[in-house]
Amino acid sequence: MNEALSFVQPTANSAWGTYLSQVDRVVPYLGPLARWVETLKRPKRALIVDVPIEMDNGSIAHFEGYRVQHNLSRGPGKGGIRFHPDVTLEEVMALSAWMTIKTAAVNLPFGGAKGGIRVDPKQLSMKELERVTRRFTSEIGLIIGPHTDIPAPDVNTNGQIMAWMMDTYSMNVGGTATGVVTGKPLHLGGSLGRVKATGRGVFVTGREGARRIGLDLRGARVAVQGFGNVGSVAAELLAEAGAKIGASQDHTGTVRNDKGLDLEKLVPLSRSEGVVGFKDCEVIDNEAFWDVPCDILIPAALEGQVTAERAARTTARLVLEGANGPTVPSADDILAERGVLVVPDVICNAGGVTVSYFEWVQDFSSFFWDEDEINVRLDRIMMNALNNIWDTADKHKITLRTATYAVACERILTARQERGLYP
Ligand code: NAD
Repeated sequence: MNEALSFVQPTANSAWGTYLSQVDRVVPYLGPLARWVETLKRPKRALIVDVPIEMDNGSIAHFEGYRVQHNLSRGPGKGGIRFHPDVTLEEVMALSAWMTIKTAAVNLPFGGAKGGIRVDPKQLSMKELERVTRRFTSEIGLIIGPHTDIPAPDVNTNGQIMAWMMDTYSMNVGGTATGVVTGKPLHLGGSLGRVKATGRGVFVTGREGARRIGLDLRGARVAVQGFGNVGSVAAELLAEAGAKIGASQDHTGTVRNDKGLDLEKLVPLSRSEGVVGFKDCEVIDNEAFWDVPCDILIPAALEGQVTAERAARTTARLVLEGANGPTVPSADDILAERGVLVVPDVICNAGGVTVSYFEWVQDFSSFFWDEDEINVRLDRIMMNALNNIWDTADKHKITLRTATYAVACERILTARQERGLYP
């Protein structure tokens, strides 16, 4: 076979390549289960779909969409849907693989999946966005379902898009299948606490990380890249705990205020216009974001943002990976050498999928919990998982990332081994 033609081969500097090198680092800690590790290096299934829609001006546009089920050994697929002009199959493969690791790291009964459409939703009208979403849902309807694979929001997707997905799937199967997606609006089977869950998980794991390195959150300086669902909520919770958000970057640019940005005004503005419209701050060059003095750095935008060169420059003592795959492996090594604690994506941002799991359970039982119950259970699951990972890191003297992979891969590959190979 010509290996160069295989879709599992990573291209240079890709998220999939980052993921594969993270798996390679865990192999020495897997013992006899290492025999099964190849199963993690290739997705179980990848569906590529054409999404044609009629635009408001009468023309026909085609978009490319993907749904990848990376591993289903421990349960149905779970993972978000991303709408972004840079989405590729390879990126979705990496994101689906990180979901496999994440759901196992927090011990949820799911596998890993992810989806996306190569589209800039900001260029579409609401009607066009709805048509893209519905056609895509119909196309991937071949492989999603409440017991097989359950999508959720990711970059540029939200509760409204989940409502259209749920409705489209339901129309196609006949009935109302609320459990087919999570992150839905509350009155359509959504869960209290879901919107803020990922940011809350970043905060909970970050607070524990700060405690362990003796960093007082009161007065701690924070820089946040990506001020959407994840970044802005993590920033708000850290500010409530006494931290100062000194810099924020989104797709419109970067703002800085050494006295702390006023989040009550910045957060609503960031949702409508972006952070650069904010008055009470200095607008700085995007690259200068990485030089803003900070104690805590939160990459919460896209993959590959923390490069080796930026890792060498940051003054942060703690990096909280709100985004998936924000740190490239060479940067990881530099941060470890410099004694910077990295709480890795696969545990740091697992709060979202944890409350998605609660939403799915509530949909099946048609009995809904109050927000306190959600948050108490979320905090408990996150803290138990993190403490277990920390013990593994201490035992083997490895980074939290490799320890998270060790804990997760053991669970996934044990399930793989117990199920055996079919036929
Ligand atoms: P979002 O669409 O709500 O926000 C994304 C943010 O990133 C926006 O502020 C946007 O302006 C900014 N951004 C986009 N391109 C940028 C660029 N080139 N430079 C700087 N900023 C840029 O998305 P989200 O749900 O907050 O997701 C952010 C990250 O968190 C992604 O990596 C996603 O996979 C991850 N994540 C999300 C969830 C969730 O529940 N939403 C769960 C786990 C992980």
